[in-house]
Amino acid sequence: MATRYGNYIGGEWRDAASSRSFDNRNPADTQDLVGTFADSGPEDVERAVAAAREAFPRWQALPAPRRGEILYRAAETLVRRKDELARDMTREMGKVLDETRGDVQEAIDMTYYMAGEGRRQFGQTTPSEMPDKFQMSVRQPVGVAGLITPWNFPMAIPSWKMMPALILGNTVVVKPATDTPLSVVNLVKVLEEAGLPKGVVNMVTGSGSQVGSPLMSHRDVGIVSFTGSTDVGRRVSLACAPAFKHCHLEMGGKNIIMVMDDARLDLAVEGALWGGFGTTGQRCTAASRVAVHEKVYREFTDRFAAGAKALRVGNGLEPKTQVGPCVNASQLETVESYVKIGKQEGARLLAGGSRLGSASHARGYFHEPTIFGDCSPKMRVAHEEIFGPVVSVIPVRSLEEAIEVGNSVDYGLSASIYTQDIGKAFTAMREMYTGIFYVNAPTIGAETHLPFGGTKNTGNGHREACVQALEVFSEWKSIYIDFSGKLQRAQID
Ligand code: NAD
Repeated sequence: MATRYGNYIGGEWRDAASSRSFDNRNPADTQDLVGTFADSGPEDVERAVAAAREAFPRWQALPAPRRGEILYRAAETLVRRKDELARDMTREMGKVLDETRGDVQEAIDMTYYMAGEGRRQFGQTTPSEMPDKFQMSVRQPVGVAGLITPWNFPMAIPSWKMMPALILGNTVVVKPATDTPLSVVNLVKVLEEAGLPKGVVNMVTGSGSQVGSPLMSHRDVGIVSFTGSTDVGRRVSLACAPAFKHCHLEMGGKNIIMVMDDARLDLAVEGALWGGFGTTGQRCTAASRVAVHEKVYREFTDRFAAGAKALRVGNGLEPKTQVGPCVNASQLETVESYVKIGKQEGARLLAGGSRLGSASHARGYFHEPTIFGDCSPKMRVAHEEIFGPVVSVIPVRSLEEAIEVGNSVDYGLSASIYTQDIGKAFTAMREMYTGIFYVNAPTIGAETHLPFGGTKNTGNGHREACVQALEVFSEWKSIYIDFSGKLQRAQID
């Protein structure tokens, strides 16, 4: 019998108001039922927001260092349970165990980081224009934070939103992706055990339309933080606009690796394989485009294609596996449809191109790591986000052309360059209009203590992680204290 998981509202685990549930299946083996989860609706959201609202004054009043101690204890538990949590995540999401351990590690890093912020949250003190007047600024929480998260980083992304929200004194309602609710259940249980007071974190599982939509539109939610596709992000933005709600969006990407003619090709090939096919290409920072200088194009593509063909695709729970399945049937169909589009557009298939259906793959959503060569930047496979194991290689004649191609897409998340020339590296670093840039490394590999996010259709100007995350979940208050004993008129006296 599969375990049945409820919502977490006001410190209690309970079924959806409708008593309905949905199945969560292993994408590597759809006969493996991971669990059943509450198929919630607006009524459950209403209760969760009410619980978060009720808990807010007491949580806000708790000194931030005390809040930090709870987070610190949670981080310690995550460390102890890392392997077990990673196994659950591989089972529900598909990526290989090394990567799900990395996902839990990101949650650990973020939880420790934000626990530390309990003793920081620095404001400013500045001199006043007038005598006997003191001034400073302090952060204040926004209130109830509504968090809507995707499936590709099932614990890392929820933690990136929850931990900064909590350390600042906000309370939370989180809606996990329907493909990966177990990892959020696990994270919430860890916080519960760490002593988080009832109602401070609430979790409601279910669909985007029945849970995400009422959550983002709820009058008592002061900030919505969303990570997911650009299409849904735009809807979130519109839903937040009428009430001028804080709105933080992390959306799609079409990231590029630029390989110059002086690059170390062994490094560049290895980087392109990891950047393009790590997490089965299902990372917002995935290197789904590679622009290669014409002088090394042939050699690079030969080696890149050979590397892709050698990757072992399978169940992420098996240690030999390097590339797991696509997360669900519709994601696999998207990949297949783009492979068809690439062929129709005249791109040259250099590796892969098909769904895997043999005995060991028959029950999962597996697709071969696929490379298209001779792509022009205008081809759909070269500028639309596919979110699967498909990489488009674009030949270029110069650094300038590579940068132009790099910047020609609607997204601006991550870019990288392989070169031994420091001048080229700095030029590309300056010219690429992205939120993240790498030199001699692929487009993936962000760490929690630098800002994370992107430009153009990837984001709306905010950044996740680092101290920038504090900006998302707080408001500044400027405070003036006059001890002169008389009226002092600013800009007049
Ligand atoms: P998605 O937009 O389909 O779903 C994201 C979340 O929004 C899910 O919880 C979903 O249930 C919810 N949702 C869906 N429709 C909704 C609606 N109408 N109203 C409210 N909520 C709704 O995205 P996904 O398929 O889960 O994730 C893949 C996308 O996420 C890719 O585009 C990827 O680039 C992006 N992503 C971005 C980042 C980043 O930091 N920039 C990180 C990871 C993933």
